Amino acid sequence: MSDNKWSSDKEWSNEIVHIPNPTSEITGMSDIIVIGNIDEIETETTIEFIPKLCEPQLEDEQKQQEGLTVPDENIMMGKETIEDQNNSQDTEKEHDSFYRSSKDDSIDEPCKTPLKPKKKGIDEEHRQQIFKTFWSLDTNDRKKNFIIANTTQKKTRTYLDDNNEPVQKKKNVHRSYSLNVDGNHIKICKKFFLTTLGISETFANNALQNQQDGVFVGEDKRGKHAPYNKTTNTAMDLVRRHIESFPVVDGHYTRKDSNRKYLGADLNIKRMYELYIVQCKDKISEKDIVSQAVYRKIFNKEYNFSFHVPKKDQCAVCTTYHQRNIEGTLTNDIKKAYDNHQARQIKAREEKKKDKELAKSSPELFVGTFDLQAVLQTPCSLVSQLFYMRKLNCYNLSIYNLANNKATYYLWSEVDAQRGSCEIGTCLYLQLLSMSHTTTHAIFYSDACSGQNRNQFIASCLLHVVNTHQSIKVIDHKFLESGHNQMECNSMHSTIEFAKKKTEIFVPQQWATVMRMARRKDPYKIVHLKYEDIYDFKDLTKNNMKFREEDVNGKKIKWLKIRWLRYTKENPDCILFKYKMDDEFREMKVALTSTRGRATEEYQLIKKYTSRQSISAAKKKDLVGLCKKGIIPSEYHEYYKSLIANINVKDTLADTDVEEEKNDSYQD
Ligand SMILES: [Zn+2]
Repeated sequence: MSDNKWSSDKEWSNEIVHIPNPTSEITGMSDIIVIGNIDEIETETTIEFIPKLCEPQLEDEQKQQEGLTVPDENIMMGKETIEDQNNSQDTEKEHDSFYRSSKDDSIDEPCKTPLKPKKKGIDEEHRQQIFKTFWSLDTNDRKKNFIIANTTQKKTRTYLDDNNEPVQKKKNVHRSYSLNVDGNHIKICKKFFLTTLGISETFANNALQNQQDGVFVGEDKRGKHAPYNKTTNTAMDLVRRHIESFPVVDGHYTRKDSNRKYLGADLNIKRMYELYIVQCKDKISEKDIVSQAVYRKIFNKEYNFSFHVPKKDQCAVCTTYHQRNIEGTLTNDIKKAYDNHQARQIKAREEKKKDKELAKSSPELFVGTFDLQAVLQTPCSLVSQLFYMRKLNCYNLSIYNLANNKATYYLWSEVDAQRGSCEIGTCLYLQLLSMSHTTTHAIFYSDACSGQNRNQFIASCLLHVVNTHQSIKVIDHKFLESGHNQMECNSMHSTIEFAKKKTEIFVPQQWATVMRMARRKDPYKIVHLKYEDIYDFKDLTKNNMKFREEDVNGKKIKWLKIRWLRYTKENPDCILFKYKMDDEFREMKVALTSTRGRATEEYQLIKKYTSRQSISAAKKKDLVGLCKKGIIPSEYHEYYKSLIANINVKDTLADTDVEEEKNDSYQD
């Protein structure tokens, strides 16, 4: 036996322990002074009906996830059951099962009131007060300091066996707990201590094992543990960093779900995961590479990102109807909207077919469709780095002559102009000007997208043309249902899709080459538009016309219901319109003044832009980066260097997402 050990233990037992109370400024508690044999004091003040918990084995402790807990209901309510008395071990297990870890960093306060007074000195009121004080401490560090300040530890004695080897100890330290009541420190058992504060044993252990000079010095790891067999934090962060490395843009219309961001239409989770694997390979250790399921989970749970589905690729009305039909949640409104949509579609197709046949035998009649095509991203290649970069948007609008199958594609990029009504109007204007002088009547079909085709600016444009054109006397604009592809442009569509997979496009002009090749026999006509080509039809609308809310008979005009607009030379101040193909035309007056005049004829169209457009600074940086890396070949570098960047330009979706214009589709 070693004398030293005995003396050391003795020293511990009788030591006067002075622990400065780090929480005294909040709690008003004085420093804690404990005198004498702590074991004795504890025994005296232990409340007998509460089963005494053993110190957990260290191994078990490590397995436990640290966390704050809600106290045992029975203990908190001061209930004592027969089982408590008869089988304290079972109760302990049961007791532990009541404890639960908090799921996040927020601290759940116990909802039950503490134990009823059983012992003179700490009554319920005081326990409540202590409980409140403890939970008013704003950080876990301060809570842990409170625990340390109210606990004393002493080393347990070491016994030697017959061979003079130390007997394995159940625990290395003995702890005693106290709480301050009116300036007196009342010794209590561990369970009473834990339940009064409403904390778990693990939380208390963490505080007590990481103290130095009475202050908590450990790291608060609550909620930051990597549970066994779970993805490590490093791996999760790598996934997040990868997801965030893709460019996202705001929606076209920010009014709806303004937090939602859109990823490029060329991406999906599977492709992102494939790119993640490519990026991770050889760079990070295998244990930090997550499965696709984990990648998907993080993507879905932590990000409000959507993969952009261009509106024209999917019909919102049909999709909703079919989904609801399968789910059995179809409502009358949805059914009615779908039926009307189908009826209108059939009607519009019949009308188009009729006009097409008529045009074949009438040289004075032009019948065509116009359609804003999907945005073409430039540069375009399958090099994986391109997926992480912002690219130039290239726009194109097709005008297809239904009688002779000739087609013209107007092509421009965001470097020159936007993708709005003025640009669409310009294409129509140029097309109408280029028509032969024998044409007296032009009929256009387009989808009913109100942001682009069915609005006052396009109306102003067409009215202006009919009033100023040498031969055209009537222009009709009839609306097809949105979301249903017009079959005329199929060969162009497949050619572009082929080019995306098989060739590399580095500058917008190269799209023209691809598009010309789309049809060998009778190739499509490609027209490049520059910023100086675009007319300002908004200025025309603002300064030369006045759109009224009511028609000439005083009836309200519902633009979203309009299916047919007619412009005639003989009625230069009026636009005719109808809601259904079979309806009679109604008339809206658009003259600036109520007196008749031919103001539109005198108006000189002005140009919309006086210079090239700026792109976002982030996009320019990405594109120049692609040049520097050699992904864009050097012969194109001058083009990219010349792009004007502006930090105030924000990248948004270039075309409407299918989710965004659902409301418009429901208009009858
Ligand atoms: Zn549809």
